[in-house]
Amino acid sequence: MQDFVFMAQPSRVVFARGSLGLLANEVKALGARRALVLCTPQQREQAQRASDLLGEMGAGIFDGAQMHVPIEVARRAREYAKTIDADCAVALGGGSTIGLGKAIALESSLPIIAIPTTYAGSEMTPIYGLTEAGAKKTGRDIRVLPKTVLYDPELSTSLPVGMSVVSGINAIAHAAEGLYAKDGNPVMSLMAEEGIRALAGGLKGIVSSAFDSDARSECLYGTWLCGSVLGHVGMALHHKLCHVLGGSFNLPHAETHTIVLPHALAYNAEAAPDAMRRIARALGVPSAPEGVFDLTKQLGAPLALRDIGLKETDLESVCRISMSNPYWNPRPLEEVALMKLLRNAWSGQRPAT
Ligand code: NAD
Repeated sequence: MQDFVFMAQPSRVVFARGSLGLLANEVKALGARRALVLCTPQQREQAQRASDLLGEMGAGIFDGAQMHVPIEVARRAREYAKTIDADCAVALGGGSTIGLGKAIALESSLPIIAIPTTYAGSEMTPIYGLTEAGAKKTGRDIRVLPKTVLYDPELSTSLPVGMSVVSGINAIAHAAEGLYAKDGNPVMSLMAEEGIRALAGGLKGIVSSAFDSDARSECLYGTWLCGSVLGHVGMALHHKLCHVLGGSFNLPHAETHTIVLPHALAYNAEAAPDAMRRIARALGVPSAPEGVFDLTKQLGAPLALRDIGLKETDLESVCRISMSNPYWNPRPLEEVALMKLLRNAWSGQRPAT
């Protein structure tokens, strides 16, 4: 057994079909009385339902959440929270809306109730991101960790199948890298392996039948596990590459994670054999990188960076930027091997380990 330090992060998790109906009680349990509901324009209707359920405690809806939390949007939302005298915020949506809630909490310490409707996992982490003048900065601060998380599988049923698949593989990526994290621990490894198992099975169920409520439930359960792993331990090469591809080349978040993951795992396979064994066991396959690639293909998700807008001529810049700030990875960063990884991910070739 490797030495470890484990510090649990405090959040209350309520997981139940129809748990949106418990929202008013959860607001009261925080000692709050005036809730601001946050959402994207696309999810206004779901946010309105939440606000209606709050009755007099529904103080207002801000429906301007956007991808990558632009600082101007965060400022407007903070102002609105002050104007309506909100004493808590309910973030209903995916990582973008929960990110907006975190941006408000960072300045005001307003307690956040997160109601995730995708599988990204942000609700379980103290990590925030803010975009200013085109540059996304991320940080960790325990004040942004949602105080309460309501997981209601019924709310994710409306997430289109294609988005569900890439969002679920985004969550699997948190767990996969958590298994070889420098600061990993046995509790997170258990959660990671179970999270990968739950999501892989749940996603197959959703692809067969988008409204299969057991499959939706299984995916959201996996989301909780994988998001917890992301919140507790550090990530490595895979997350760094995706951050560069999203931040500097504007590639879509979940799709990028989906495409890069098997190749990042292939890069790290020899350096992290125990993690690979656990990922493969969770997927019921002999090899982790190939297994993740085959799962992605089976689920009908994109397999090549060239298909989501990356130019071949950008590969060298991606490699250079990714190597410019050293960070921990089980295998040291080697330029030639990293370029091979990127070329394979760009063309969508099945990794071979
Ligand atoms: P998203 O929040 O950007 O949502 C994408 C779109 O799907 C939005 O229009 C949203 O309204 C819509 N949507 C969400 N749920 C829906 C549903 N059930 N039905 C119909 N439409 C729905 O996407 P995401 O992938 O969840 O989040 C991505 C963002 O989250 C990125 O900016 C990423 O960096 C961030 N993120 C942060 C963390 C963290 O720990 N801080 C973790 C994961 C992701």
